[in-house]
Amino acid sequence: MKYWNKTLADMQEYIYGEQPGGTAGFVKLNTNENPFPPSKDVIEAIKKHADDRLRLYPDAKSDALRKIFAEENGLSTDNVFVGNGSDEIFTLIFRGFIEKDGVAAFPYPSYSLYYTLAQGNGIAHKKVQLEDDFSYNMDKFLNQNFALVIISNPNNPTGTYCPADEIARFCEAFEGLLVVDEAYIDFYGGSSIELVNKFDNIIITRSMSKSYSLAGLRVGLAAANKDIISGLMKIKDSYNVDTLSQAGAVAALLDKKTFNSNITYNMRNNKDYLEERLAAMDFTIVPSRANFLFVKHSDISAEEIYLKLKEKKILVRHLKGERQSDYVRISVGSMGEIKSLCKELESICNVSHEAGTPDS
Ligand code: PMP
Repeated sequence: MKYWNKTLADMQEYIYGEQPGGTAGFVKLNTNENPFPPSKDVIEAIKKHADDRLRLYPDAKSDALRKIFAEENGLSTDNVFVGNGSDEIFTLIFRGFIEKDGVAAFPYPSYSLYYTLAQGNGIAHKKVQLEDDFSYNMDKFLNQNFALVIISNPNNPTGTYCPADEIARFCEAFEGLLVVDEAYIDFYGGSSIELVNKFDNIIITRSMSKSYSLAGLRVGLAAANKDIISGLMKIKDSYNVDTLSQAGAVAALLDKKTFNSNITYNMRNNKDYLEERLAAMDFTIVPSRANFLFVKHSDISAEEIYLKLKEKKILVRHLKGERQSDYVRISVGSMGEIKSLCKELESICNVSHEAGTPDS
C-alpha cells in the first residue's frame, strides 16, 4: 500500500481471537473473557453517567480510579496510571521508554501483542524461550543488555507463574526496565505490585477485562514509581479513557463483594472441575494460575480438536507457532459452557463420562 511506511509494511498483524458476536450462538472459550457478568454497580454507574454531560471531555487522568486503585495497593495516586486497556499501556511504553536502538525481550510462548506492538513502534526484540515445562527462568533475560523486558505473569497462553521474590531478585540485577503484565493475577493472587515501592525499574500492569468482567470497557492500569507514571502521562493521548469506562471501573473496584465471592470463587471452582474432566480424557494440563488452561491430548492433535469443536460451535484458541501449536488454550467458562465443551470433547476423544458432576 503506497501510503504505508516501512515499519507498517514490515510488521506482522496481531491475530485476534475470533469474535463471532453474541447472536452467532457460539460457546466462547477462546479469549479468556469472564463468563460471569460484571457487578450490577457497574451498570448503574454507567447509566448514571450516560446523560447530557457526555458532551464534556472525561477526566484526562482518571484521577478517581487512580486514587482507589492506589489505596487498595498501598501506593500513592502518583504511582498509578490508567490506560485504554492494558494494551494501550504497552504501546506507550514502546513509544517512550526505550531508545530506537534498544532491544526488548519477551518470553515465548507468550502474549503475541508484545511482539506486534514492538514491531509497530520500530523496536527490535528477542523471544526468550520458556523452559520445557513452560516455567520462567528469569536468568535468561539477564546478560544480554536488554533495555526492556515484558513478562506476562501468569503467562498467557501457558498459565505459568513467576513468584514475586524471583521478580525482586531480577529487578536488583537488571539494568533495564521490567514490565510485569498481571492481566490474570487476580484469579490466584501473588502480585509483585509491592515492588513498585522498592525498585524504580519495574512497571506492573493490570487489566479490568478479566477478573472484573469488563473487557468491553477497555480499562487497564499501570503501577510504577512516580517518574515513570509522569512519563506515561506525558506521552498518552489527551483523553485516553472515556467517561463511562472510568465510572464503570470505579464502581467495579468498589464492589469487592462481587469480585471476591462471585468472580474469583466461581472461577476457581469451575476451573478445578474442568481440570478433572480433561485429565479423565487423557489431556496433559500445564499447571495454570489463570482463568484458562493450556492443554494437549495424548492422541489427537490440537488442530483437530480446535476444528472439531468449532464445527460444534465451541471456540477454543489454537495458536500457531513453534511449541504452542501442540496445545489448545481453553478459557474457564460457566459450568454450563464447561459441560457442553466436555460433552463434545468426550465424543472427539471417544470416552464416556461417568463421574458425578457438581451442580452448576
Ligand atoms: N495482557 C495479557 C497477557 C492478555 O492476555 C491480555 C488480553 N488479551 C491483555 C494484556 C489485554 O488486556 P486489556 O484488555 O486490558 O487490554
